[in-house]
Amino acid sequence: MEKKELSCVDCGILNCNKRNSVYPEFCPTAALTEEEAREVMALYEEPENHRMAVTAAEVEAEFYMKYTRVEEIAEFARRMGYRKIGIATCVGLIEESRIFARILRKKGFEVYGAACKAGSVNKTEIGIPEEAYLGKGPGPVMCNPILQAKLLNREGTDFNVAVGLCVGHDSLFYKYSEAPVTTLIAKDRVLGHNPAAALYQCSGYYSRLLEENKGE
Ligand code: SF4
Repeated sequence: MEKKELSCVDCGILNCNKRNSVYPEFCPTAALTEEEAREVMALYEEPENHRMAVTAAEVEAEFYMKYTRVEEIAEFARRMGYRKIGIATCVGLIEESRIFARILRKKGFEVYGAACKAGSVNKTEIGIPEEAYLGKGPGPVMCNPILQAKLLNREGTDFNVAVGLCVGHDSLFYKYSEAPVTTLIAKDRVLGHNPAAALYQCSGYYSRLLEENKGE
């Protein structure tokens, strides 16, 4: 691989983390100009960014290996002073979202949920051909992540949580959400919503993922 193609994902040193070695030739830390570094650090001085970065680090440190992600989300939200939490949920994970909402309500938060099929618009309305879904699992009603975001925006949620949104639909939700977003569940229908399992099994059951298939 050419040097210009290498990046952090190709680094075996991780000197930025432990500072016990040297930076590799292609390292973006080593190549960072003072101006670039200043520009980034200045963004952490913006009040909301500063509060989020510090609070996230505090929650990480205080509850390291103790809190589940559900608890971390609630704790982060509590410390940030968020009162109203939005849940953008897949209809296929509505039960999980109901339980999550119960937990949040028990902790004193107000909750407003928006399901992915809200608006109940047919896929054909945005040009998805019928043959793309006929006879298949998902059905004719489109996922509507932009509406999910707009509903939560209208409700004035302070913080939004994505629960099981599809790849790409989640991107649209993140794009249109006015409140900051975190993800509770990353959908993976095959692996019980644990997408990392495919990576753990790359030398075994999922070795096909490493086969070259450029342009497939
Ligand atoms: S910043 Fe540098 S040291 Fe850190 S992971 Fe990337 S290439 Fe490696």
